[in-house]
Amino acid sequence: MSYEKVETLIVGGGQAGIAMSEHLSKLGKQHLIVERGRIAESWRSRRWDSLVANGPAWHDRFPNKTFSGISQDGFATARMIVDYFVDYADQIKAPFRCGVEVQALCRWNGGFRVETSEGSIEAENVVVATGPFQRPIIPPVIPETAGITQIHSADYRNPQQLPEGGVMVIGAGSSGVQIADELRQAGRQVYLSVGPHDRPPRRYRGHDFVWWLGALGMWDAEAADPSTQHVTIAVSGAKGGHTVDFRHLASTGITLVGMTRSYKNGVMQIAPDLRKNIAAGDANYLAMLDAADAYVVRQGLDFPEEPEARLIKPDPQCMNDPVLELNLAEAGIRSIVWATGYTQDFDWIKVDAFDQSGRPQHHRGVSCISGLYFLGLPWLARRSSSFIWGVWRDAGYIAEHIAARGKQVSLPRADGDITGPVI
Ligand SMILES: Cc1cc2nc3c(=O)[nH]c(=O)nc-3n(C[C@H](O)[C@H](O)[C@H](O)COP(=O)(O)OP(=O)(O)OC[C@H]3O[C@@H](n4cnc5c(N)ncnc54)[C@H](O)[C@@H]3O)c2cc1C
Repeated sequence: MSYEKVETLIVGGGQAGIAMSEHLSKLGKQHLIVERGRIAESWRSRRWDSLVANGPAWHDRFPNKTFSGISQDGFATARMIVDYFVDYADQIKAPFRCGVEVQALCRWNGGFRVETSEGSIEAENVVVATGPFQRPIIPPVIPETAGITQIHSADYRNPQQLPEGGVMVIGAGSSGVQIADELRQAGRQVYLSVGPHDRPPRRYRGHDFVWWLGALGMWDAEAADPSTQHVTIAVSGAKGGHTVDFRHLASTGITLVGMTRSYKNGVMQIAPDLRKNIAAGDANYLAMLDAADAYVVRQGLDFPEEPEARLIKPDPQCMNDPVLELNLAEAGIRSIVWATGYTQDFDWIKVDAFDQSGRPQHHRGVSCISGLYFLGLPWLARRSSSFIWGVWRDAGYIAEHIAARGKQVSLPRADGDITGPVI
Protein backbone atom coordinates (compact mmCIF):
# COMPACT_ATOMS: atom_id res chain seq x y z
CA MET A 1 0.00 0.00 0.00
CA SER A 2 1.38 3.46 -0.78
CA TYR A 3 0.80 6.62 1.19
CA GLU A 4 1.45 10.31 0.68
CA LYS A 5 5.18 10.79 1.32
CA VAL A 6 6.96 13.75 2.85
CA GLU A 7 10.55 14.08 3.92
CA THR A 8 9.76 15.84 7.20
CA LEU A 9 6.35 16.10 8.81
CA ILE A 10 5.87 18.83 11.42
CA VAL A 11 2.98 18.11 13.77
CA GLY A 12 1.55 21.34 15.18
CA GLY A 13 1.25 24.79 13.62
CA GLY A 14 2.03 27.12 16.50
CA GLN A 15 5.21 29.17 16.78
CA ALA A 16 7.31 26.00 17.08
CA GLY A 17 5.94 24.50 13.85
CA ILE A 18 6.41 27.81 12.01
CA ALA A 19 9.99 28.25 13.27
CA MET A 20 10.76 24.68 12.21
CA SER A 21 9.36 25.35 8.75
CA GLU A 22 11.46 28.47 8.31
CA HIS A 23 14.70 26.71 9.18
CA LEU A 24 13.95 23.66 7.02
CA SER A 25 13.08 25.89 4.06
CA LYS A 26 16.35 27.77 4.44
CA LEU A 27 18.18 24.46 4.19
CA GLY A 28 16.09 23.42 1.18
CA LYS A 29 14.46 20.57 3.08
CA GLN A 30 11.03 19.44 1.90
CA HIS A 31 8.37 19.36 4.65
CA LEU A 32 4.69 19.71 5.53
CA ILE A 33 3.01 21.15 8.65
CA VAL A 34 -0.21 19.51 9.82
CA GLU A 35 -2.27 21.44 12.37
CA ARG A 36 -5.51 20.18 13.86
CA GLY A 37 -6.96 23.66 14.26
CA ARG A 38 -5.80 26.92 12.73
CA ILE A 39 -2.38 28.59 12.62
CA ALA A 40 -1.39 29.54 16.20
CA GLU A 41 -4.51 27.83 17.54
CA SER A 42 -3.38 27.96 21.18
CA TRP A 43 -3.08 31.75 21.01
CA ARG A 44 -6.66 31.86 19.66
CA SER A 45 -8.56 29.42 21.82
CA ARG A 46 -6.55 28.79 24.99
CA ARG A 47 -5.98 32.34 26.23
CA TRP A 48 -8.29 34.64 28.16
CA ASP A 49 -9.81 37.66 26.39
CA SER A 50 -7.61 40.34 27.95
CA LEU A 51 -4.32 38.39 27.79
CA VAL A 52 -1.24 40.20 26.58
CA ALA A 53 2.26 38.81 26.12
CA ASN A 54 4.42 38.56 29.21
CA GLY A 55 7.38 39.99 27.32
CA PRO A 56 7.62 43.26 25.34
CA ALA A 57 7.10 43.21 21.58
CA TRP A 58 10.80 43.81 20.82
CA HIS A 59 11.57 40.54 22.62
CA ASP A 60 8.63 38.13 22.21
CA ARG A 61 9.04 37.67 18.46
CA PHE A 62 11.08 35.90 15.81
CA PRO A 63 14.24 37.62 14.49
CA ASN A 64 12.95 38.21 10.96
CA LYS A 65 9.83 40.23 11.69
CA THR A 66 8.77 42.92 14.16
CA PHE A 67 5.27 43.52 15.49
CA SER A 68 3.44 46.30 13.70
CA GLY A 69 0.80 48.59 15.19
CA ILE A 70 2.32 48.51 18.68
CA SER A 71 5.25 50.17 20.45
CA GLN A 72 8.20 47.77 20.60
CA ASP A 73 8.18 48.30 24.39
CA GLY A 74 4.47 47.43 24.53
CA PHE A 75 2.90 44.04 25.16
CA ALA A 76 1.10 42.40 22.23
CA THR A 77 -2.44 41.13 22.70
CA ALA A 78 -3.19 37.48 21.93
CA ARG A 79 -4.95 38.64 18.73
CA MET A 80 -1.81 40.54 17.64
CA ILE A 81 0.25 37.42 18.28
CA VAL A 82 -2.11 35.32 16.14
CA ASP A 83 -1.93 37.89 13.33
CA TYR A 84 1.86 38.00 13.68
CA PHE A 85 2.21 34.26 13.21
CA VAL A 86 -0.35 34.10 10.38
CA ASP A 87 1.62 36.84 8.58
CA TYR A 88 4.89 35.11 9.41
CA ALA A 89 3.66 31.80 7.97
CA ASP A 90 2.67 33.68 4.84
CA GLN A 91 6.03 35.52 4.69
CA ILE A 92 8.00 32.25 4.74
CA LYS A 93 5.42 30.42 2.60
CA ALA A 94 5.06 27.72 5.24
CA PRO A 95 3.39 24.64 3.74
CA PHE A 96 0.42 24.36 6.10
CA ARG A 97 -2.40 21.85 6.12
CA CYS A 98 -4.88 23.02 8.76
CA GLY A 99 -7.79 21.08 10.23
CA VAL A 100 -5.81 17.84 10.14
CA GLU A 101 -5.26 16.00 13.39
CA VAL A 102 -2.47 13.50 13.82
CA GLN A 103 -3.91 10.51 15.64
CA ALA A 104 -1.05 8.00 15.65
CA LEU A 105 2.60 7.73 14.73
CA CYS A 106 4.46 4.45 14.34
CA ARG A 107 7.65 3.11 12.77
CA TRP A 108 7.36 2.24 9.07
CA ASN A 109 9.95 1.27 6.47
CA GLY A 110 12.77 2.73 8.57
CA GLY A 111 10.85 6.02 8.81
CA PHE A 112 7.39 6.73 10.18
CA ARG A 113 3.76 6.27 9.26
CA VAL A 114 1.48 8.95 10.58
CA GLU A 115 -2.27 8.38 10.80
CA THR A 116 -4.21 11.59 10.45
CA SER A 117 -7.87 12.53 10.34
CA GLU A 118 -7.36 12.86 6.56
CA GLY A 119 -5.46 9.64 5.83
CA SER A 120 -1.95 8.29 6.25
CA ILE A 121 1.36 10.03 5.56
CA GLU A 122 4.80 8.43 5.33
CA ALA A 123 7.63 10.58 6.66
CA GLU A 124 11.34 10.13 6.97
CA ASN A 125 11.44 12.60 9.87
CA VAL A 126 8.75 13.80 12.25
CA VAL A 127 9.00 16.92 14.39
CA VAL A 128 6.55 16.91 17.30
CA ALA A 129 5.66 20.59 17.81
CA THR A 130 2.39 20.08 19.65
CA GLY A 131 3.10 22.57 22.41
CA PRO A 132 4.65 22.87 25.85
CA PHE A 133 1.24 23.05 27.52
CA GLN A 134 -1.07 20.39 26.19
CA ARG A 135 -3.40 18.85 28.76
CA PRO A 136 -4.66 21.19 31.52
CA ILE A 137 -4.23 19.73 35.01
CA ILE A 138 -7.07 20.04 37.52
CA PRO A 139 -5.98 18.15 40.64
CA PRO A 140 -8.73 15.84 41.91
CA VAL A 141 -9.33 17.83 45.10
CA ILE A 142 -12.96 18.91 44.91
CA PRO A 143 -15.54 16.38 43.63
CA GLU A 144 -17.70 17.47 40.70
CA THR A 145 -20.73 16.84 42.92
CA ALA A 146 -19.67 19.63 45.32
CA GLY A 147 -21.77 22.19 43.44
CA ILE A 148 -18.84 24.49 42.69
CA THR A 149 -17.97 25.63 39.18
CA GLN A 150 -14.40 24.55 38.46
CA ILE A 151 -12.46 25.55 35.35
CA HIS A 152 -8.82 25.52 34.32
CA SER A 153 -7.06 28.77 33.39
CA ALA A 154 -6.87 27.41 29.80
CA ASP A 155 -10.69 27.70 29.69
CA TYR A 156 -10.99 31.01 31.54
CA ARG A 157 -12.08 33.87 29.26
CA ASN A 158 -13.46 36.73 31.40
CA PRO A 159 -15.18 37.42 34.75
CA GLN A 160 -18.69 37.30 33.23
CA GLN A 161 -18.17 33.64 32.35
CA LEU A 162 -18.17 32.65 36.05
CA PRO A 163 -21.29 32.46 38.23
CA GLU A 164 -21.84 35.48 40.46
CA GLY A 165 -20.05 35.42 43.79
CA GLY A 166 -16.57 34.85 45.11
CA VAL A 167 -13.81 33.04 43.22
CA MET A 168 -10.84 31.10 44.46
CA VAL A 169 -7.86 31.14 42.09
CA ILE A 170 -5.47 28.30 42.80
CA GLY A 171 -1.93 28.79 41.54
CA ALA A 172 0.01 32.06 41.53
CA GLY A 173 2.13 31.90 38.42
CA SER A 174 1.63 34.44 35.64
CA SER A 175 -1.83 33.11 34.72
CA GLY A 176 -3.14 32.83 38.28
CA VAL A 177 -2.06 36.30 39.40
CA GLN A 178 -3.36 37.99 36.25
CA ILE A 179 -6.72 36.21 36.41
CA ALA A 180 -7.09 36.94 40.15
CA ASP A 181 -6.31 40.62 39.52
CA GLU A 182 -8.85 40.83 36.69
CA LEU A 183 -11.55 39.16 38.79
CA ARG A 184 -10.91 41.53 41.71
CA GLN A 185 -11.02 44.56 39.39
CA ALA A 186 -14.38 43.26 38.18
CA GLY A 187 -15.65 43.48 41.77
CA ARG A 188 -15.35 39.83 42.75
CA GLN A 189 -14.33 38.61 46.16
CA VAL A 190 -11.10 36.75 45.38
CA TYR A 191 -8.96 34.24 47.27
CA LEU A 192 -5.57 33.47 45.72
CA SER A 193 -3.74 30.28 46.72
CA VAL A 194 -0.01 31.03 46.52
CA GLY A 195 2.63 28.32 46.19
CA PRO A 196 6.39 28.59 45.62
CA HIS A 197 7.21 31.03 42.82
CA ASP A 198 9.79 33.36 41.32
CA ARG A 199 8.74 36.96 40.76
CA PRO A 200 11.33 38.90 38.80
CA PRO A 201 11.16 42.71 38.66
CA ARG A 202 9.34 43.89 35.53
CA ARG A 203 11.88 46.65 34.96
CA TYR A 204 15.04 47.55 36.81
CA ARG A 205 17.55 50.31 36.19
CA GLY A 206 15.96 51.14 32.87
CA HIS A 207 15.68 47.63 31.43
CA ASP A 208 12.93 45.04 31.22
CA PHE A 209 13.52 41.77 33.06
CA VAL A 210 13.68 39.85 29.75
CA TRP A 211 16.67 42.04 28.88
CA TRP A 212 18.23 41.23 32.26
CA LEU A 213 17.65 37.50 31.76
CA GLY A 214 19.65 37.80 28.55
CA ALA A 215 22.41 39.96 30.05
CA LEU A 216 22.77 37.63 33.02
CA GLY A 217 22.84 34.53 30.81
CA MET A 218 19.68 33.18 32.42
CA TRP A 219 17.75 32.54 29.20
CA ASP A 220 20.57 30.21 28.22
CA ALA A 221 20.51 28.26 31.47
CA GLU A 222 20.42 24.55 30.76
CA ALA A 223 18.31 22.16 32.77
CA ALA A 224 21.16 20.72 34.78
CA ASP A 225 19.07 20.54 37.93
CA PRO A 226 15.60 19.04 37.30
CA SER A 227 14.24 20.91 40.34
CA THR A 228 14.84 24.21 38.55
CA GLN A 229 12.59 23.14 35.69
CA HIS A 230 9.35 23.50 37.55
CA VAL A 231 9.62 26.92 39.12
CA THR A 232 6.45 28.92 38.67
CA ILE A 233 7.23 32.39 37.41
CA ALA A 234 4.86 35.24 38.18
CA VAL A 235 5.23 38.03 35.61
CA SER A 236 2.74 40.29 33.90
CA GLY A 237 2.58 42.42 30.78
CA ALA A 238 -0.94 43.57 31.73
CA LYS A 239 -1.61 47.30 32.27
CA GLY A 240 1.59 48.20 30.44
CA GLY A 241 3.64 45.67 32.41
CA HIS A 242 4.33 45.62 36.14
CA THR A 243 6.16 43.63 38.78
CA VAL A 244 3.93 41.05 40.41
CA ASP A 245 3.63 42.19 44.03
CA PHE A 246 1.50 39.95 46.24
CA ARG A 247 1.23 42.59 48.97
CA HIS A 248 -0.16 45.01 46.40
CA LEU A 249 -2.68 42.38 45.27
CA ALA A 250 -3.73 41.99 48.92
CA SER A 251 -4.13 45.78 49.22
CA THR A 252 -6.69 45.66 46.38
CA GLY A 253 -8.79 43.24 48.43
CA ILE A 254 -7.51 39.86 47.30
CA THR A 255 -7.13 37.41 50.19
CA LEU A 256 -3.86 35.52 49.85
CA VAL A 257 -3.76 31.98 51.22
CA GLY A 258 -1.11 29.26 51.18
CA MET A 259 -1.07 26.10 49.07
CA THR A 260 -4.39 24.30 48.73
CA ARG A 261 -4.15 20.93 50.42
CA SER A 262 -7.46 19.10 50.50
CA TYR A 263 -11.21 19.50 50.61
CA LYS A 264 -13.81 17.82 52.78
CA ASN A 265 -17.47 18.65 53.47
CA GLY A 266 -17.26 22.08 51.88
CA VAL A 267 -14.08 23.08 53.71
CA MET A 268 -10.74 23.65 52.05
CA GLN A 269 -7.63 22.86 54.08
CA ILE A 270 -4.81 25.32 53.40
CA ALA A 271 -1.13 24.73 54.14
CA PRO A 272 0.54 27.13 56.64
CA ASP A 273 3.13 28.11 54.01
CA LEU A 274 1.92 31.49 52.72
CA ARG A 275 4.56 33.51 54.56
CA LYS A 276 7.31 31.10 53.50
CA ASN A 277 6.24 31.16 49.83
CA ILE A 278 6.02 34.95 49.72
CA ALA A 279 9.40 35.27 51.49
CA ALA A 280 11.04 32.91 48.97
CA GLY A 281 9.52 34.96 46.12
CA ASP A 282 10.89 38.16 47.73
CA ALA A 283 14.32 36.55 48.06
CA ASN A 284 14.23 35.60 44.38
CA TYR A 285 13.21 39.16 43.47
CA LEU A 286 15.99 40.72 45.54
CA ALA A 287 18.56 38.21 44.23
CA MET A 288 17.78 39.35 40.70
CA LEU A 289 18.33 43.00 41.72
CA ASP A 290 21.65 41.97 43.32
CA ALA A 291 22.71 40.10 40.18
CA ALA A 292 21.74 43.09 38.03
CA ASP A 293 23.66 45.52 40.28
CA ALA A 294 26.74 43.30 40.16
CA TYR A 295 26.48 43.17 36.37
CA VAL A 296 26.31 46.97 36.16
CA VAL A 297 29.49 47.26 38.26
CA ARG A 298 31.28 44.48 36.34
CA GLN A 299 30.49 46.01 32.97
CA GLY A 300 31.11 49.60 34.14
CA LEU A 301 27.63 50.66 32.98
CA ASP A 302 26.01 53.99 33.66
CA PHE A 303 22.50 52.72 34.45
CA PRO A 304 20.43 54.90 36.83
CA GLU A 305 20.32 53.56 40.38
CA GLU A 306 16.93 52.46 41.68
CA PRO A 307 17.08 51.95 45.45
CA GLU A 308 13.29 52.23 45.79
CA ALA A 309 12.97 48.92 43.94
CA ARG A 310 14.20 47.25 47.15
CA LEU A 311 11.38 48.58 49.30
CA ILE A 312 9.01 45.80 50.33
CA LYS A 313 5.58 46.86 51.58
CA PRO A 314 4.39 45.82 55.07
CA ASP A 315 2.76 42.40 55.28
CA PRO A 316 -1.01 42.48 54.89
CA GLN A 317 -3.43 41.03 57.44
CA CYS A 318 -3.94 37.86 55.37
CA MET A 319 -0.22 37.11 55.74
CA ASN A 320 -0.08 37.94 59.44
CA ASP A 321 -3.13 35.86 60.28
CA PRO A 322 -3.35 33.35 57.43
CA VAL A 323 -6.49 31.40 56.63
CA LEU A 324 -5.85 27.69 57.18
CA GLU A 325 -9.40 26.42 56.75
CA LEU A 326 -11.80 27.92 54.27
CA ASN A 327 -15.49 27.07 54.27
CA LEU A 328 -16.27 27.84 50.62
CA ALA A 329 -20.00 28.45 51.08
CA GLU A 330 -19.49 30.71 54.11
CA ALA A 331 -16.83 32.66 52.18
CA GLY A 332 -19.28 33.05 49.28
CA ILE A 333 -16.98 31.17 46.88
CA ARG A 334 -19.03 29.84 43.96
CA SER A 335 -16.24 29.03 41.55
CA ILE A 336 -12.63 27.92 41.35
CA VAL A 337 -10.10 28.73 38.65
CA TRP A 338 -7.29 26.19 38.64
CA ALA A 339 -4.14 27.89 37.34
CA THR A 340 -2.22 24.74 38.07
CA GLY A 341 -0.39 24.09 34.84
CA TYR A 342 -0.39 21.41 32.22
CA THR A 343 0.91 17.98 31.44
CA GLN A 344 1.88 16.55 28.07
CA ASP A 345 -0.09 14.32 25.77
CA PHE A 346 2.01 11.95 23.68
CA ASP A 347 -0.40 8.98 23.75
CA TRP A 348 -0.56 9.10 19.96
CA ILE A 349 3.19 8.43 19.58
CA LYS A 350 3.50 4.65 19.36
CA VAL A 351 7.29 4.43 19.40
CA ASP A 352 9.54 3.87 22.37
CA ALA A 353 10.84 7.42 22.75
CA PHE A 354 9.91 7.96 26.40
CA ASP A 355 11.38 7.31 29.81
CA GLN A 356 9.56 5.50 32.59
CA SER A 357 7.70 8.60 33.66
CA GLY A 358 6.51 9.22 30.10
CA ARG A 359 8.89 12.09 29.33
CA PRO A 360 10.47 12.20 25.87
CA GLN A 361 14.05 10.96 25.86
CA HIS A 362 16.01 13.47 23.85
CA HIS A 363 19.01 15.73 23.69
CA ARG A 364 18.10 19.28 22.65
CA GLY A 365 15.02 17.86 20.95
CA VAL A 366 16.81 15.08 19.06
CA SER A 367 15.03 12.00 20.36
CA CYS A 368 16.47 8.57 21.00
CA ILE A 369 14.62 7.36 17.87
CA SER A 370 16.36 8.35 14.62
CA GLY A 371 14.25 10.83 12.71
CA LEU A 372 11.94 11.74 15.59
CA TYR A 373 12.29 15.23 17.11
CA PHE A 374 10.57 17.26 19.83
CA LEU A 375 10.38 21.04 19.74
CA GLY A 376 8.94 23.71 22.04
CA LEU A 377 8.94 21.73 25.28
CA PRO A 378 9.85 23.54 28.52
CA TRP A 379 13.63 23.39 29.02
CA LEU A 380 14.06 21.38 25.81
CA ALA A 381 17.55 22.82 25.44
CA ARG A 382 17.47 25.89 27.66
CA ARG A 383 15.21 28.01 29.79
CA SER A 384 14.12 29.91 26.66
CA SER A 385 12.98 26.78 24.80
CA SER A 386 9.22 27.14 25.27
CA PHE A 387 9.18 30.89 24.68
CA ILE A 388 8.57 32.64 21.37
CA TRP A 389 12.09 33.67 20.54
CA GLY A 390 13.77 30.66 22.19
CA VAL A 391 11.91 28.09 20.12
CA TRP A 392 13.14 29.74 16.95
CA ARG A 393 16.72 29.09 17.98
CA ASP A 394 16.05 25.47 19.00
CA ALA A 395 14.33 24.88 15.64
CA GLY A 396 17.54 25.90 13.87
CA TYR A 397 19.47 23.21 15.70
CA ILE A 398 16.94 20.52 14.82
CA ALA A 399 16.82 21.60 11.16
CA GLU A 400 20.62 21.29 10.97
CA HIS A 401 20.33 17.84 12.45
CA ILE A 402 17.69 16.80 9.92
CA ALA A 403 19.80 18.15 7.06
CA ALA A 404 22.90 16.29 8.29
CA ARG A 405 20.85 13.15 8.69
CA GLY A 406 19.59 13.48 5.13
CA LYS A 407 23.17 13.16 3.93
CA GLN A 408 23.41 9.79 5.65
CA VAL A 409 20.36 8.10 4.15
CA SER A 410 22.54 5.42 2.53
CA LEU A 411 23.61 4.23 5.98
CA PRO A 412 21.82 1.12 7.24
CA ARG A 413 19.16 1.91 9.83
CA ALA A 414 18.01 -0.47 12.52
CA ASP A 415 14.30 -0.45 13.29
CA GLY A 416 13.52 1.07 16.70
CA ASP A 417 17.14 2.11 16.96
CA ILE A 418 18.48 4.00 19.98
CA THR A 419 21.30 5.98 18.47
CA GLY A 420 21.39 9.34 20.20
CA PRO A 421 22.38 12.44 18.29
CA VAL A 422 23.98 11.89 14.87
CA ILE A 423 25.84 15.21 14.86
C1 LIG B 1 -1.30 31.64 29.21
C2 LIG B 1 0.01 31.56 28.49
C3 LIG B 1 0.69 32.74 28.19
C4 LIG B 1 1.93 32.69 27.54
N1 LIG B 1 2.55 33.87 27.26
C5 LIG B 1 3.75 33.85 26.65
C6 LIG B 1 4.43 35.06 26.33
O1 LIG B 1 3.94 36.14 26.63
N2 LIG B 1 5.62 35.00 25.70
C7 LIG B 1 6.18 33.80 25.35
O2 LIG B 1 7.28 33.80 24.75
N3 LIG B 1 5.58 32.64 25.64
C8 LIG B 1 4.38 32.63 26.27
N4 LIG B 1 3.76 31.45 26.56
C9 LIG B 1 4.49 30.19 26.31
C10 LIG B 1 4.47 29.74 24.83
O3 LIG B 1 4.96 30.76 24.03
C11 LIG B 1 3.09 29.32 24.37
O4 LIG B 1 2.63 28.24 25.13
C12 LIG B 1 3.05 28.92 22.87
O5 LIG B 1 1.72 28.72 22.49
C13 LIG B 1 3.87 27.68 22.57
O6 LIG B 1 3.97 27.52 21.17
P1 LIG B 1 4.10 26.08 20.47
O7 LIG B 1 4.04 26.27 19.02
O8 LIG B 1 5.24 25.35 21.06
O9 LIG B 1 2.78 25.33 21.00
P2 LIG B 1 1.27 25.71 20.68
O10 LIG B 1 1.11 27.14 20.44
O11 LIG B 1 0.45 25.07 21.74
O12 LIG B 1 1.04 24.99 19.30
C14 LIG B 1 0.90 23.59 19.19
C15 LIG B 1 -0.07 23.32 18.08
O13 LIG B 1 -0.15 21.92 17.87
C16 LIG B 1 -1.46 21.59 17.52
N5 LIG B 1 -1.64 20.17 17.81
C17 LIG B 1 -1.54 19.56 19.01
N6 LIG B 1 -1.73 18.22 18.88
C18 LIG B 1 -1.91 18.00 17.56
C19 LIG B 1 -2.15 16.81 16.79
N7 LIG B 1 -2.24 15.60 17.37
N8 LIG B 1 -2.31 16.93 15.44
C20 LIG B 1 -2.23 18.17 14.84
N9 LIG B 1 -2.01 19.31 15.54
C21 LIG B 1 -1.85 19.22 16.87
C22 LIG B 1 -2.32 22.51 18.39
O14 LIG B 1 -3.60 22.70 17.84
C23 LIG B 1 -1.49 23.79 18.41
O15 LIG B 1 -1.89 24.71 17.41
C24 LIG B 1 2.51 31.44 27.19
C25 LIG B 1 1.81 30.27 27.50
C26 LIG B 1 0.59 30.33 28.14
C27 LIG B 1 -0.14 29.03 28.44
